[in-house]
Amino acid sequence: MKITNSKRFIISLTVLIFTLISLTSFKLANKLVYKPLVSKVKVIVIDAGHGGQDGATHGAISKEKNVALSVALKLGAAIEEKLPGVKVIYTRQTDVFVKLYERIGLANKEKADLFISIHCNSMPLVRQRYVIKYTSGGKPIYGYRSIPNPVTRGTETFVAGFGRIGEQDAAIRENASILLEKDYKKNYEGFDPKDPESYIIFSLMKNAFRDQSIKLASLVQDEYVKSGRINRGVQEKGLAVLQRAGMPAILTEIGFISNPEEEDFINSDEGQAEIVDNLVSAIAAYKKQMEL
Ligand SMILES: [Zn+2]
Repeated sequence: MKITNSKRFIISLTVLIFTLISLTSFKLANKLVYKPLVSKVKVIVIDAGHGGQDGATHGAISKEKNVALSVALKLGAAIEEKLPGVKVIYTRQTDVFVKLYERIGLANKEKADLFISIHCNSMPLVRQRYVIKYTSGGKPIYGYRSIPNPVTRGTETFVAGFGRIGEQDAAIRENASILLEKDYKKNYEGFDPKDPESYIIFSLMKNAFRDQSIKLASLVQDEYVKSGRINRGVQEKGLAVLQRAGMPAILTEIGFISNPEEEDFINSDEGQAEIVDNLVSAIAAYKKQMEL
């Protein structure tokens, strides 16, 4: 009887000790999992896409490089006003061409806590049939022309990472800037934006800040949705400008310049103010979460 009691006591004690150890390790594991790599947001690099000889996409009334610059400058001013203590650095403040690796290189050099690249979307060309003239008998004679699909619209935000080749339309378009750099083969270590296999290499590159980049990208999309914009979601793409980021980095497509209605919106003062508000709210929410 006495022995059984001691045995029971030993078993209970062992169970208690193991429970305590497991609970402690669980807490530690959770702490490790959720510990952010970057805890403060003090420096933000804002990157206006394209510039100079790289006009990128265009719509009926505007070029992507000019819309991106206007929104980027307004975003920087709004961050300085609404998030005091945060330093803003621009990759360009005028209509100049800046190489993609130099943009992210600046962010790495300045030890930025966030990198945000502003772009406008465009759809691949579609064949459109139109009437050239009518015959004397009143029959139409058709011709064909290629125009960007004018129907597609909405916002989407990219982070660096895996994207299947067939889904890399945006990546191919945004990486095309590299071709304007004479020495691009040296600068991107064998990456060739014309070669689909290069995108596989980019996709496989490990990004230490993937989770935080996705968190910020999701917050940005949430804000667009709150303002009634169409949500095309967060996607991982093999994007040269984000690939070497030593911090959470996103590329946000603020609307389709190939859609006449969205082109008007992203060019208007009200539209740009709404986009800037969305981005500042997302950054503020991200900053709050990181600095808990
Ligand atoms: Zn672009």
